[in-house]
Amino acid sequence: MNRSYDVIVAGGGIHGVGVAQAAAAAGHSVLVLEQHSLAAGSSSRSSKLIHGGLRYLESGQLRLVRESLHERALMLKLAPELVQLQKFYIPIYEHSRRKAWQLRVGLGLYALLAGLDATAHFGTVPRAQWPTLDGLELEGLRHVYWYHDAQTDDALLTAAVMRSAQALGAGLALPARCTGATLTHDGVQVRYLHDGVERECSARVLVNAAGPWADALARSITPAVHVPPLELVQGTHLLLDGPPQRGVYYVESPRDGRAIFVMPFHGQLMIGTTEVRFHGDPATVAPAPHELHYLLGVLRHYFPRFRDPAASQLRGEFAGLRVLPAGGGHAFHRSRETLLVPDRASRPRLLSIYGGKLTTWRAVAARALARLAASLPARSPRARTDTLALHPA
Ligand SMILES: Cc1cc2nc3c(=O)[nH]c(=O)nc-3n(C[C@H](O)[C@H](O)[C@H](O)COP(=O)(O)OP(=O)(O)OC[C@H]3O[C@@H](n4cnc5c(N)ncnc54)[C@H](O)[C@@H]3O)c2cc1C
Repeated sequence: MNRSYDVIVAGGGIHGVGVAQAAAAAGHSVLVLEQHSLAAGSSSRSSKLIHGGLRYLESGQLRLVRESLHERALMLKLAPELVQLQKFYIPIYEHSRRKAWQLRVGLGLYALLAGLDATAHFGTVPRAQWPTLDGLELEGLRHVYWYHDAQTDDALLTAAVMRSAQALGAGLALPARCTGATLTHDGVQVRYLHDGVERECSARVLVNAAGPWADALARSITPAVHVPPLELVQGTHLLLDGPPQRGVYYVESPRDGRAIFVMPFHGQLMIGTTEVRFHGDPATVAPAPHELHYLLGVLRHYFPRFRDPAASQLRGEFAGLRVLPAGGGHAFHRSRETLLVPDRASRPRLLSIYGGKLTTWRAVAARALARLAASLPARSPRARTDTLALHPA
C-alpha cells in the first residue's frame, strides 16, 4: 500500500523528532523513518549540554548564543526532569590564554543575552574555597569563575520529543532506512527498507534529518538536488570513575587552547571533546588512540589525582560526528548554525537539515516548518511546541 503523508522525516535524531513534533503539533500527518534506533547518531554522542555556548562568543555567533539561551530557558521549564541547571567553573591560571578580564566581559555578555534572569548570575569562587573544587590543580591558579548552564541526557531527550510527537499523532517506522526519493511536480515519492522489505510512500515534503548521513541521503534523490560543501568532524568523550561533585569544569587544553568540559554524567566523570576531520562511513566513527591521549592529558593537567594510572582507568568512550560547513581553518572556529537547504525556493518538496546543536532543536524545527508552510495543506493546529511539556519514559 502506498500511504500518503503531509511530512515524511528521514532520521530519528533530535532534529528529525523535533520536526515530527512541530509538524504533528501543526496538525499534519507525519511519519519518521529511522534506520537503527532513536538517537543512534550524533544525538546520543554529544557533550549533553543545553547551553548558550560561551565559547561561540569568541567567534561572534551572537544570534546563535541568544537563541540557544532562550531555548535553554524553555527546556528548563518544559522538561525539568530531563534538563537541569548546572554550575560551571572556569579556572584561570597564570599562563591561561583567556585572561580574567576577557572572561568577565564574556560572562557579562552571556548574562545579557540570557536576559539577566536568575540563571544569568556569575561570579568568582573565593580563594578559601578553592581546595573544595574536586582536586583542581591549585598551582598557578589566579581566579575561578562560576556561572550556570544546563545538562541533559541527549538520547532520553530525543526519545521524549518523539513520544510527544507520537502523542500528537506522528508515526515512527523503525528500523526503516530511507533508500531514496523521487521529487514529483508537487510532492515526493519516498522509498525505504523496513523489516527487509522495500516499501514506498508519498508525501508533500521529505525532511532529510539524517545527520552525518544527510549528504549521502541528499545525493540519493532524483532529480539531483544542490548539496552544500560540508565536512564531518569527529568528537570523542571519555568516561572515568570519580565524577566532579561541584559541577562542570570548563578548562583550556594546555596544548592548543581549545575549550574542554570535565563533567559529571550518570555517576561518572565525562571529559570531551576533540575535533578531528572525519572521512568515510559515519557508521564507523570510533575514538582514536591519539584522542584518548589528548583528553587524558588535559584531565591529568588540571586534576592531579588522575596522574595515578590506577585512578584513570577508562570506563567508556564514544565518538560522534558534527556536520559543519566546509572551510579552511580549525573546526573550533566554524559556524555552529543549522543549515536548512530546500530543493527549490518556492514550495519546496525536500528540506535538508545540516549541522546545528542539540540545544536549538525546537527552534530549528519551528524554522523548518515555517520554511515548508507553502508546500503543506492548511490543517488545524493541535498544540504549540513552546508549551508542550516533555517527560522521560
Ligand atoms: C562530539 C559532539 C558534541 C556535541 N555536543 C553538543 C552539546 O553539548 N550541546 C549541543 O547543543 N549540541 C552538541 N552537539 C551537536 C548535536 O549533538 C547535534 O547537532 C545533533 O545531535 C544533531 O542531530 P541530528 O538529528 O541532526 O543528527 P543525528 O542525531 O545524527 O540523527 C540522524 C539520524 O538519522 C538516521 N539516519 C541516517 N540515514 C538514514 C536513512 N537513510 N534513513 C533513515 N534514518 C537515517 C541515523 O541513524 C540517526 O539516528 C555535539 C555534537 C558532537 C558530534
